[in-house]
Amino acid sequence: MKLDSLMKLYVHELKDLFSAENQLVDALPKMVKAANDEDLKTAFKEHLTETEKQIQRLEKIFAQLEFEPGGHKCAGMEGLITEGEHLMKSEISPNVLDAALIAAAQRVEHYEMAGYGTARTYAEKLGRHEDADLLQETLNEEGHADQLLSRLAERRINFLAMNK
Ligand code: FE
Ligand code: ZN
Ligand code: FE
Repeated sequence: MKLDSLMKLYVHELKDLFSAENQLVDALPKMVKAANDEDLKTAFKEHLTETEKQIQRLEKIFAQLEFEPGGHKCAGMEGLITEGEHLMKSEISPNVLDAALIAAAQRVEHYEMAGYGTARTYAEKLGRHEDADLLQETLNEEGHADQLLSRLAERRINFLAMNK
């Protein structure tokens, strides 16, 4: 598809997000397993449920467009997940791994926030206000996930990681 309009670029961004979210759905269960802190496990589990809803929102948006969600792989998310997998396989103490998993997950959330912010702005510009509302909903969830991870790190996990 030649990207010769904002509409086509919008569809490209949506496909990228769709691929990113689907990759994350596969990665999060591994992060739940790898995490040691119970609250961190819960945070990842809850974000897995949210991520499934986010995929449904993107499917809802695609249903109104004359394009299918597939056909593109998000290389950015692939790279972020690969880095997380390297950490999980490395020689690392449990508390330090938890801190590292938070760092990796926050990179993912910020990456997603950048994509959703852009897509939401394009949707508004293109007069697709229902799409914009759905994208904003997801953007808010990503922001909350990011804040929750900051709280876990700052209140306990970084402290535990200091001496191990
Ligand atoms: Fe997401
Ligand atoms: Zn991407
Ligand atoms: Fe997310």
